Amino acid sequence: MAAILFDNVSKIFNDKVKAVKNLNLEIKDKEFTVFVGPSGCGKSTSLRMIAGLEDISEGNLHIGDKIVNNLPPKDRDIAIVFQNYALYPHMTAYENLAFGLKIKKLKKKEIHSRVMEAAQILEIEDLLDRKPKAMSGGQRQRVAIGRAIVRKPKVFLFDEPLSNLDAKLRVQMRIEISKLHQKLNTTIVYVTHDQIEAMTLGDRIVVMHKGEIQQVDTPMNLYKNPKNLFVAGFIGTPPMNFFEGKVSFNNGSLKFTDNTNTFSFNLPENHILKNCIDNEVVIGIRPENIHDKIVKTNREYAILKSRILFMEQLGHDVYAYFQLAEKQYISRLKPETDIIKGSEIDFYLDISKMHFFDSVTGKTIK
Ligand code: ATP
Repeated sequence: MAAILFDNVSKIFNDKVKAVKNLNLEIKDKEFTVFVGPSGCGKSTSLRMIAGLEDISEGNLHIGDKIVNNLPPKDRDIAIVFQNYALYPHMTAYENLAFGLKIKKLKKKEIHSRVMEAAQILEIEDLLDRKPKAMSGGQRQRVAIGRAIVRKPKVFLFDEPLSNLDAKLRVQMRIEISKLHQKLNTTIVYVTHDQIEAMTLGDRIVVMHKGEIQQVDTPMNLYKNPKNLFVAGFIGTPPMNFFEGKVSFNNGSLKFTDNTNTFSFNLPENHILKNCIDNEVVIGIRPENIHDKIVKTNREYAILKSRILFMEQLGHDVYAYFQLAEKQYISRLKPETDIIKGSEIDFYLDISKMHFFDSVTGKTIK
């Protein structure tokens, strides 16, 4: 069993920086969990506490059925893969893979069989007699992952392992890591600042901000049901659009007016909006839910008139940027759209896909 439990865990550096605040989280055995958040949010510190590379200031960390606060890293049965590979430059790939096992005094035959098994899984058999300087970034990263595999740990930790690779290789290695999880069938905890990496890899994602968990959920739930403005804005590319303003009754129907009184749109009555009436709210809508025409006749749309500032043609999509009250918004359109830059058009906002947030607390209004 290699479940991990953070029980009210905090990390305070130098008696002042509270890098991780009262973390409560259960990572299930064999689960692939991704910590994601912007720089400085505390994700690496959380991972390093699992590895035993940082002391725990408050609370308890459990691995399996043991509290491990005072257990040294070498006794935790955990392997960690770092961003900078951390390979020994004077050793060949084979020696790098074998090194940890030699230290553990495993028999030569066992070492050889584990190295060859890992090399086969990672398809690096033909690199085994090369030193790191004769390998590409992607190949070095495979060796670094191999070094973790040969140890047959209960838990794999990955700390931004793909950040040094170019975009194409990152996508390729992402798929490799996903396959690896299926093959090894062990608990993986993975840290990244890249929400696409998090969404594509994680069974569950832990979104962190300023040392605190914002939401723990499946990729799809984070996308569909963000709990607050931070998660809504962090997950999804291009990011969600936000309109700040007020909802009021106008001639028997509901109307949203932005807080500079520059634009407004009508909304149908429903229970969410009734809770919002006369309060400051933020309406969030993803670029893919702002259209240049009505796409489904059984849906209700809010209509916003605006001029197209510029457009980006991506082949599979077109991003159309528009501006209202000095704020820029983005709509993601089909590539065959006939709208052109500079024209003024009606945008159709799919009301069923709108998110409503309390502008004071940032929480989703239910
Ligand atoms: P990044 O993506 O930039 O690595 P992160 O989310 O992983 O960021 P952490 O490295 O966990 O963030 O750092 C969280 C906070 O703790 C930051 O404010 C950081 O400056 C602080 N911190 C991290 N390590 C130390 C340390 N050894 N001494 C003092 N403060 C630290």
